[in-house]
Amino acid sequence: MSGSMTPLIEARNLTMRFGGILAVNALDFAVHPGELVGLIGPNGSGKTTTINMLSGHLTPVGGEIMVRGSAATGRKASDFATIGVGRTFQITQLFSRMTVLENMLVPGLARPRSHKAAVTETARRHLDFLGLAKLEHLQARNLSGGQQKLLELGRALMLEPSILFLDEPFAGVNPFLRDEIIELVQKLHADGRTFVIVDHDIEALQRLVRRMVVMARGRKIADGTVDEVRHDQEVLRAYAGF
Ligand code: ADP
Ligand code: MG
Repeated sequence: MSGSMTPLIEARNLTMRFGGILAVNALDFAVHPGELVGLIGPNGSGKTTTINMLSGHLTPVGGEIMVRGSAATGRKASDFATIGVGRTFQITQLFSRMTVLENMLVPGLARPRSHKAAVTETARRHLDFLGLAKLEHLQARNLSGGQQKLLELGRALMLEPSILFLDEPFAGVNPFLRDEIIELVQKLHADGRTFVIVDHDIEALQRLVRRMVVMARGRKIADGTVDEVRHDQEVLRAYAGF
């Protein structure tokens, strides 16, 4: 990968505080187009907070966010979505009493100049890709945990993201769907999408990513290949002390 290429997204000195808690502490983190990066760390290490800031769901108290080299710090989540930054949530944010298809239409119709027929067609194409086509009339609350994660991914795809942050896509997902999600991410990646995936399922991440970033207590403590990170003393200590 060329070192001179402009990162798709970059955090510089990114910091978030909740009361007395320094949830993310001066984080430097860059993702280049086409990368598939794992972001791991013990619970409470600041992974979700990092995603929240990098997708505009939280405004950092310090530092900068650059998207394709342009400052995006302080912009809203909808602005981040418009410039191609998408994310899913650790705790799914579906409309539980709306159908699968309706859940897909909401983000699509929220875009300027959207047309219902075209948005519906796009939604069905994504549902088909995700293996949810037959369930389009089911209320979201009737989906399994894994199917809800797939629907979240579908909702994110409606906004045509170039980079997707997935927050614990494998948590609480049955082994069959887990393998399916791995394959879907691989296909989306082969199609040119960039991913940052937070999860505790190291085996799944090892199948997906070449690069792993490790956080502990709000800081980045390692950033390298899966093998480098696995043998890193500070990483081993962070997990041992957890
Ligand atoms: P992770 O996703 O790595 O488990 P989080 O980013 O969720 O970690 O949390 C990092 C730290 O920030 C934790 O100490 C957590 O309790 C705290 N935190 C996260 N969100 C909030 C919030 N909205 N209000 C107060 N504290 C928070
Ligand atoms: Mg989290």
